[in-house]
Amino acid sequence: MARRCARATSRFNGVHPGRIATCAAWLCCALLCASAAEAGLYSASDQVVLLTPENVEAVLLNSTAATLAEFYASWCGHCVAFSPVYKSLARDIKEWKPAVDLAAIDCAANANRKVCTSFKITGYPTMQFFQAYSQEISEGQAFKEFPRDVRGLRHKIIDRLENHREPSPPACPPLEPVSPAEIDSFFETNSVEHLALIFEGADSYIGREVTLDLLQFENITVRRVLRTEEGLVSRWSVTEFPSCYLYYPGGNFTRLRVNIEARSFYSYALQELPGVVRSGRPPPISVDVHTNATEEPFKPFNRSRVYMADLESTLHYFLRVELAPHAVISGEDLVSLKKYISVLSKYFPGRRIVMNLLKSVNSWLQNQSGDEISYEALREVLDNSTQFPDTALPEGERWVGCQGSQPNLRRYPCGVWTLFHVLTVQAKNNGSMDGLEVLTAMRHYVRSFFGCRECAEHFENMARESLLNVHTMSSAVLWLWSRHNRVNNRLTGALSEDPKFPKIQWPSPEMCSACHMVKDNGEHRWYNEKVLRFLLSYFSASRILSDYLEDEGQVLSKQREKQASQQKAIEAQRHVERKVREAPDSVAHPQVQLPVQEEEEEEEEEEEEEEEGEEGPPDEAVTDEEEEGGEGAAPEDKNFEPNIWHKPEMELGGGRRQPNRRPSIVGMRMREPQEDIVDLDSFVNQHYKAKALQIAASSRVKQRTLQRKEEQEPQPVFGLGMELDTGLGMAGLQPIEDEFEVGIGQKARKRLMKRDLSDKYLLQEADLSHRGRWMSLLSIGFSKVDISLCVILYFLSSVCLITMYLFFKTRLRLRRAKVVPP
Ligand code: FAD
Repeated sequence: MARRCARATSRFNGVHPGRIATCAAWLCCALLCASAAEAGLYSASDQVVLLTPENVEAVLLNSTAATLAEFYASWCGHCVAFSPVYKSLARDIKEWKPAVDLAAIDCAANANRKVCTSFKITGYPTMQFFQAYSQEISEGQAFKEFPRDVRGLRHKIIDRLENHREPSPPACPPLEPVSPAEIDSFFETNSVEHLALIFEGADSYIGREVTLDLLQFENITVRRVLRTEEGLVSRWSVTEFPSCYLYYPGGNFTRLRVNIEARSFYSYALQELPGVVRSGRPPPISVDVHTNATEEPFKPFNRSRVYMADLESTLHYFLRVELAPHAVISGEDLVSLKKYISVLSKYFPGRRIVMNLLKSVNSWLQNQSGDEISYEALREVLDNSTQFPDTALPEGERWVGCQGSQPNLRRYPCGVWTLFHVLTVQAKNNGSMDGLEVLTAMRHYVRSFFGCRECAEHFENMARESLLNVHTMSSAVLWLWSRHNRVNNRLTGALSEDPKFPKIQWPSPEMCSACHMVKDNGEHRWYNEKVLRFLLSYFSASRILSDYLEDEGQVLSKQREKQASQQKAIEAQRHVERKVREAPDSVAHPQVQLPVQEEEEEEEEEEEEEEEGEEGPPDEAVTDEEEEGGEGAAPEDKNFEPNIWHKPEMELGGGRRQPNRRPSIVGMRMREPQEDIVDLDSFVNQHYKAKALQIAASSRVKQRTLQRKEEQEPQPVFGLGMELDTGLGMAGLQPIEDEFEVGIGQKARKRLMKRDLSDKYLLQEADLSHRGRWMSLLSIGFSKVDISLCVILYFLSSVCLITMYLFFKTRLRLRRAKVVPP
């Protein structure tokens, strides 16, 4: 590799700097024009360079790699028919890229016409081969009567590379047969670990193809040995052609064991040899002794099995991390979520507690008839706030089969693929007849939520291209497998490839040799029937391993602990709130202060109001508490993952945050009148209760005594001119709370309703307080006795006045009679 790089660098040294700048400008333009170019038969994801007037010279001239270019017209039927072959070729020889690349240009596009004219293109499709370091466009060599199949094209390219003039592409390895002298001195001049020798006939291309397939791998050299090289053939007693031998220093050799002596089998096997690694990647480390860069030690695992821990981790990450920033989920996203969760609840082959949770989330979601839901509300269901028995999704990630050698490799996307395959296979095994059900749900999930947006775009392109051709469950399973392999192909050698888990066309012959077959002409083919059988078994529920899973009991008790600690935190917070609320009151309004005993009573009363649920079973009490302010407890919860949870929750607005805002509002002067209202309100309620009891009693005096005795027992009675029953001060709240008591099964829904209702309640409370204030002002401090006395006094004074009036009137009349003249 060092040699290759040195040669490449020295080549660039000879190029004028101005030319490099021009090339850079062209590349930028090429990127800008890419979308225009993609309107043709090829797109950037086809691994074909899209030629444009801006990049054509930079790509074809003075390049370190040879290039095969297709000139086509997008309206030409032959071109359309040939395009899948050309795309397959691009995927097939992707590993050869540093030595030879593929390009294409749509001559039907207005912008490209000039270019095609300058190349003197008169018919479509036309193929031209440009050698490395070509200086003029006229140097392009026509690929006359080129084969219309991948194998034929591949061989033609090899012929051109073998006949390449000097200088040849620096990355191109020697393709000629090796001589005995070269082999004998090989390890004196090379520092690689493996020398692979492919013995074959002169007309076989396998040796050269495998040599190019391994071109991007270090620590291995592949050479071909002709069967006519009798000295070597007899030295190793080679009887089969083709066959592959590994040669080591000291003259040791061993035959490479493969199921079929063919190109793909050799390439798969050689790429997996110990020490063989893609160029530019860190040296491989043994899985057994390796500790990855994450804090957790690498867990030993079986590479050919699926682990439930990966599937649960994927669910956790999706539901609690990936979804969390979507504070409000609406429209198409809500439809996507409903579809995906519905498929998960139907086909996820999970353990009991996880299935219960998925079903509870699904039924909650399907019951949401509005246009949107808040993530916060969904989160309550996910956290099983209603405490359905045996319902939980373990928190956190425990990657096993999806472990990466670095924290940024594999993990979640690996889990998503694995989950997808498991779901399609489960649907098939469960007898589903709708081939598109699962795939459509996945497509929706990827489109709406998959965090890697570019991946989502690529996946959507693939789905748009061919998903509608899927009709049966078998074809759905195979569709997903083949698209996954396409992605693998595109990503081989990408930075996201974990060197310890190279991207291969999956499954390797080692995993399923029956899945691979070789046609008579030596070409590799997938045996779809066998692949399907393999997938159905590999991803079946019965083969999924449960190693490294957190114990169910532990998961449930952690969930309970979390809820309990959240409840504690809420209580503590409320206590603080109450203190804050009371503090400014006692200073600012000494005149409305109640006697100490009464104040304490009021506090108890408030506590009762808040902890009403505690009268029921303990589980329900936790639930009721949680619904009012569970999130307030989050930071104190040991099980909480601050970097994951806190951010999204901070982004969220109202809802359950309301209780947290109370202290700051209560402490403000604006709230002071409301504090008064609270006192009067409780007073009025108590007052009416006392009156009601008074009416019910037969004797006023007896009634007082009796009432005091009866009502005082649970609560002390206070006198403000009459008896008050503090316990009934809660009457205004009762109907609302009662509603929430109906049916445990609907609690989750009611909890959400409660948030709305709490607003209504506040209004009602304010209204009641308002009315109560007026009522209390009218009747405060007067009993019936007092009023009767007033009436009697009023009556007596009236009688007195009338008597005086009559007395004086009579006297006046008598006086007038006395002074009459005679
Ligand atoms: P993965 O490819 O994630 O495979 C996981 C496991 O599935 C493997 O370990 C293997 O056991 C099994 N497997 C492998 N191939 C197949 C197959 N064909 N059929 C069945 N099982 C198989 N990354 C990008 O950089 N660009 C993208 O455009 C991109 N698109 C993606 C689209 C989707 C929908 C997803 C889920 C991921 C995408 N990724 C993309 C991520 C990428 O595909 C890998 O998931 C990631 O690089 C981790 O790779 P991995 O080695 O763990 O194996």
